[in-house]
Amino acid sequence: MSTAAVRAFHQRSIEDREAFWLEQASLIDWQTPPTRALDDSRLPFARWYPEGRTNLCHNAVDRHLATRGDQAALAYVSTETGREFTWTYRELHAEVQRCAGVLQDLGVRTGDRVILYLPMIAEALVAMLACARIGAIHSVVFGGFASASLATRIDDARPTVLVTADAGMRGGRMIPYKPLVDAALAAAAHPPAKVLVIDRGLDADSSRVAGRDVDYAEAMASVGQREVPVVWLPGDAPSYILYTSGTTGRPKGVQRDTAGYAVALAASMKYIYGGQPGEAMFTTSDIGWVVGHSYIVYAPLIHGMTTVVYEGLPIRPDAGILWRLVERFKVTVMFSSPTAIRVLKKQDPAWLSRYDTSSLRGLYLAGEPLDEPTARWISDSLQVPVTDNYWQTETGWPILSAMPGVADTPRKFGSPSFPVYGFDVQLLDPDGHPVPVGQKGVVAIRPPLPPGCLSTVWGDDARFVSTYFSSFSGQQVYSSFDWGVADEDGYYFILGRTDDVINTAGHRLGTREIEEAVSGHPAIAEVAVVGVQDAVKGQVPVAFAVLRDAAGAATPAAAEALEREVFLAVDQALGAIGRPARVHFVTVLPKTRSGKLLRRSIQALAEGRDPGDMTTLEDPAALEQIRLALLDR
Ligand code: ATP
Ligand code: MG
Repeated sequence: MSTAAVRAFHQRSIEDREAFWLEQASLIDWQTPPTRALDDSRLPFARWYPEGRTNLCHNAVDRHLATRGDQAALAYVSTETGREFTWTYRELHAEVQRCAGVLQDLGVRTGDRVILYLPMIAEALVAMLACARIGAIHSVVFGGFASASLATRIDDARPTVLVTADAGMRGGRMIPYKPLVDAALAAAAHPPAKVLVIDRGLDADSSRVAGRDVDYAEAMASVGQREVPVVWLPGDAPSYILYTSGTTGRPKGVQRDTAGYAVALAASMKYIYGGQPGEAMFTTSDIGWVVGHSYIVYAPLIHGMTTVVYEGLPIRPDAGILWRLVERFKVTVMFSSPTAIRVLKKQDPAWLSRYDTSSLRGLYLAGEPLDEPTARWISDSLQVPVTDNYWQTETGWPILSAMPGVADTPRKFGSPSFPVYGFDVQLLDPDGHPVPVGQKGVVAIRPPLPPGCLSTVWGDDARFVSTYFSSFSGQQVYSSFDWGVADEDGYYFILGRTDDVINTAGHRLGTREIEEAVSGHPAIAEVAVVGVQDAVKGQVPVAFAVLRDAAGAATPAAAEALEREVFLAVDQALGAIGRPARVHFVTVLPKTRSGKLLRRSIQALAEGRDPGDMTTLEDPAALEQIRLALLDR
């Protein structure tokens, strides 16, 4: 039985942890190979391969030069600027080496931080790899954040240098970056001494601050052909800081190590993603997110693949663009998000059959719950297995996933399948007791966290322990802050976030349960439910729904009638206890650029509070609609 093979593989990774991870260590190159895998003397802090010495950039670039120097390492396509090119591993190596020289000339030393505030350009990957090469710690800040968010991250990371571009482009619109960076630096208490500016020639008004700002092209030219050797680092040396998306609260600086991350990614390519060296992988995320760090940059390159780097939207110039790139680069492994697929699902399905996607072996989706209709539609259309994988910025790679490289298990729609090797996953009740099969519990991980996961919160060991390991009384177990349930076959299902629970008149209800009940009404396309403070009941659920056909709530009378129907649908599915106090109709819900619903902000508005950091909002009009909906009736 294939599921038995997966279970046995997982069991060995937990019970014979040391041997399992020492074996996986041979998937990467070392200057000094490790003789032991784990130092667990100070749990929940886990140090992986502490005596080994290696380097991420060496593993992603240099080690391929002898065998695949002329193979494409990076295929770049921007439908925003029309720029397209391919770099071989040899060319990428030359670029990275020069950029490392530039950073050194600007005073960057091993252990220093470098903030990258960049759009999806190849130079962003170059800068990341250049930092890794010299042991500098990069912190990529998503190029959609506003200056205040950037300033907060600057003050937390205290970078020596910040790398930016004159502008980004989105949907054909130029978005100036430089003025925003200038404002962030003015607001920050610890601004970097130097700003490296990549001039894309997009913003004619982009200005420079003398003595502080350095032109990237000029600096690269002056470095010339200087050799910049890789700096061999202890296995547990920090490689980067990445702030969580902040969907639920104040972002945390997730600190990643070096060797554990490289080994975890290399192993994931073999057991989960199943790409082969020499093939192309296409991840449609952004380098500002964890999926981008792991599966646009490091994993495909460590694995000797070609990474397809795309700047643009999935429906521009038309809804065939992603499939056109699959055909063109003969992509075998594709990684995207449920949101992107839902966007495509609304378009003409003919776009999919227009291109030859037969090179694809698998589509991987992560970041939010993958609903069954979306999963079914895309797997039928592409005729490849669709793998839902569940993970977090904190873990850096999947916690739950199918593992076709271990055994080809059948998928269940709506389930990210099984705990991944290395993760000692348990479903616990709030007191820390394992829940029986079929009952919901908090997805928890017994320490040590496997290689590749966060080693601490940057600069704040106490916050690492108090945030992640203090949810269950009397035991230090990692909390994911997500609810999950496992069925009798061992398949897991994610039910929503633990802070998305509504406590109404003493009953605890998950927002996702109520959302599913509301979605049961055929007129509803999408819905967000939040708990709103109530003097009598403690909290009451309030729903914001998008209709399939907006005309359904065009008049107040129609909206009221529809609201009553939705109440009945919820009563039937969940009981009157789950009935929302109100159903407001809107045409768009506030989501982040990475597709996550901003329930925290909706809730804040509904309670008359400040919605918080809204800078990565996909569509600012969405919040305005919530505000207006709340005023109405
Ligand atoms: P913050 O922690 O700062 O509030 P965030 O949790 O949104 O932000 P991420 O680390 O990007 O930041 O998101 C991880 C979360 O996304 C998971 O904890 C889970 O809630 C959700 N998630 C990711 N993948 C899946 C999936 N396959 N199915 C269901 N939920 C998922
Ligand atoms: Mg989170």
